[in-house]
Amino acid sequence: MTDQNPVLARLMDGTAPARRLTDATAAAAADLRLRTGVTPCLATVLVGEDPASVTYVRMKRNRCEKAGIRSRHVPLPAATSTAQLVDVLGELSADPTVHGILLQHPAGPRVDERAAFEAIAPAKDVDGVTTHSFAAMSFGLPGFTSCTPGGIMRLLDEYRVGLTGKHAVVIGRSAILGKPAGMLLLARDATVTYCHSRTVDLPSIVREADVLIAAVGRPELIRGEHLKPGAVVIDAGYNPGNVGDVHFASARERAGLITPVPGGVGPMTIAVLLAQTVEAATRQLGPQRQ
Ligand code: NAP
Repeated sequence: MTDQNPVLARLMDGTAPARRLTDATAAAAADLRLRTGVTPCLATVLVGEDPASVTYVRMKRNRCEKAGIRSRHVPLPAATSTAQLVDVLGELSADPTVHGILLQHPAGPRVDERAAFEAIAPAKDVDGVTTHSFAAMSFGLPGFTSCTPGGIMRLLDEYRVGLTGKHAVVIGRSAILGKPAGMLLLARDATVTYCHSRTVDLPSIVREADVLIAAVGRPELIRGEHLKPGAVVIDAGYNPGNVGDVHFASARERAGLITPVPGGVGPMTIAVLLAQTVEAATRQLGPQRQ
């Protein structure tokens, strides 16, 4: 009977911790407004009208509003050049009424995305996409983390997942997700292995993972039989049809803890973006005066 009734992994729900973080962020925003008369402001920049990106930006702006953060939306035509985008980001970086800047990724085929990200002032890089933010995060210096990796770390802490000496396997090495996730895990004394599209025999490496971060963008690439029994599985993948990078049903029969998709990493990502926006505003408006 055990085969028919396997022990299922505990769910790592991201919605409740994200709500708690957002409540704390809303309180901090209200306090800042009371002290300084200034409402924190996030500028969202969207190039083109990719439906998924439009939805993501709308969702982020709605959450801002609920948390007492102003958002200023800057929609740009799909034909925007790198130079034009760099100019817009430079102006927002210099504007004292804007405290955080989000350039929705991907920024379109005509844009050198790295050059555009670098035009964001590090003090306003609340999405953690600049070289400065990556270096500061990797060296453990003050700065902003990439939101999704930051959200993943908060989720791991929320569920009291010990990381010291654990083998963490990160599948994916993008600048905004896989790479920074690995650096944050390394800073917490995990032994980190990165996998990517050229990795040979992915299943044999995944089988060694105490903690697995799937950040690939390939629906259900990882299946339960690939996992080490009891592994902690963080599925950051978000593919069309609300499908993650992990085959949830089979993985849940083998893992110890697993994030659902949706409702796991996604809500934490937005909550970290809001928290970092209020943190940026607080730093820019100066320390608390009594
Ligand atoms: P990306 O830039 O396309 O990077 C994907 C990574 O996966 C690359 O490093 C690639 O390797 C690797 N990869 C591709 N195919 C592979 C395979 N068969 N085996 C092993 N590795 C493979 O994607 P991303 O922006 O990091 O996003 C990854 C996923 O996370 C997507 O589903 C995205 O929607 C999701 N996401 C979710 C959130 C959230 O808030 N939940 C936020 C951002 C992204 P190479 O480097 O060799 O090409």
